[in-house]
Amino acid sequence: MSQPSLKGARWIVAGAGVLGASVAWKLAQAGADVVLCDPAAAGDNASGIAAGMLAPAMEAALDPETGLDFPALAAARDLWSSFAQEAGIALDRSGALLAGTHAERIAAQLAAIGAAHRILSGADAAVLSSGLTAAHPAVFTPEDWRLDAPAALACLTAAAQGAGVRVVLAALTGFEPGRAALSTGETLAADGLVAATGWGAATAWGASLAPELSVLVPIKGQILRSTAGPTDGPVVRGEGVYVAPGPQGAVIGATMQAGVSDRRIEPEAVQRLLTKASALFPSLADAPNTPSAAVRAASPDGLPLVGRSRKTGVLVAVGARRNGWLLAPMIAGEVVRLAAGQDAGLAAFDPGRFAAGTAVQARN
Ligand SMILES: Cc1cc2nc3c(=O)[nH]c(=O)nc-3n(C[C@H](O)[C@H](O)[C@H](O)COP(=O)(O)OP(=O)(O)OC[C@H]3O[C@@H](n4cnc5c(N)ncnc54)[C@H](O)[C@@H]3O)c2cc1C
Repeated sequence: MSQPSLKGARWIVAGAGVLGASVAWKLAQAGADVVLCDPAAAGDNASGIAAGMLAPAMEAALDPETGLDFPALAAARDLWSSFAQEAGIALDRSGALLAGTHAERIAAQLAAIGAAHRILSGADAAVLSSGLTAAHPAVFTPEDWRLDAPAALACLTAAAQGAGVRVVLAALTGFEPGRAALSTGETLAADGLVAATGWGAATAWGASLAPELSVLVPIKGQILRSTAGPTDGPVVRGEGVYVAPGPQGAVIGATMQAGVSDRRIEPEAVQRLLTKASALFPSLADAPNTPSAAVRAASPDGLPLVGRSRKTGVLVAVGARRNGWLLAPMIAGEVVRLAAGQDAGLAAFDPGRFAAGTAVQARN
């Protein structure tokens, strides 16, 4: 299919998380004049604190509520190769290990979904991941990749700016075709809006931007960045915890608190994560760590909302739940196609699917 051209079109993108930054970048590359607005400091959102796992195998095996099967998630991952290279983002393809008594059960699930994997003894797993206690049997998959989310978000924003996107520190407070209003009082000429407002979509001004966003529910996530633990090698998953290598030490995550939308750090939740992570990597127990919290947005069926709103001139790109990083290149490509007037390629993500009279299987 030919590259869509948006030459001369004026778009405003609300929300500078991974979805908004990716969409703004790709719209500008297609020729549009783009403003990317967000009232939050750079990275002060779910995208900026995420672990950065691009994990089609483990997500498909461990989280049936993701709503997408392994081939679909792997296709989304594959888009990252060129996307990352173009944006200057370093991808790590060291794979993922799952260690613990459930390793054999998860190996069977990986086999069932068609994901490459191999079973390892505890000793062999400890060779792959420095500092991992050798006590646990493990299963390894090369299918899962990762990136450093805060650094990658900065790269995406810089790539967008390099393509001509103007970044504004303000909330979008209103939109009608031709005109967008910002919380600073500024008004902008804009033919189209992309609402990439994450969980913010469901609050304050967000709800007025597109009626479809009202179905979103929050899932709070708390995560720790340690000064110890692995800085390279595979992501290691245990029971109810993961330890992802990070540039300064391990990233330990994460809580999934459905229905909770505050960003308060809860010491008990932090301690639970630390205890589980320390069972895998004893060096984490006493090392200083920095906790953070943010809110994922989820739809009733676990799939994102990506497509045309009932509101004229508005596209939505929200609700990526716990896979927003993994899905970002796929979602950005879809938004550019729709902005150029092409047909939806990802019909399952239609944001109107929960409207009265539309049959949709809701998940808890
Ligand atoms: C602890 C944790 C770990 C995670 N780990 C992973 C992982 O390893 N891999 C993965 O793929 N995903 C992961 N996720 C999920 C992923 O982070 C999200 O799916 C993704 O960040 C969603 O991106 P987004 O751009 O939709 O939303 P966000 O990153 O939340 O960004 C939305 C932005 O919209 C802005 N906004 C709101 N209202 C307005 C308005 N009116 N005008 C302008 N701007 C507005 C907000 O300020 C915010 O900056 C994790 C999430 C959490 C919380």
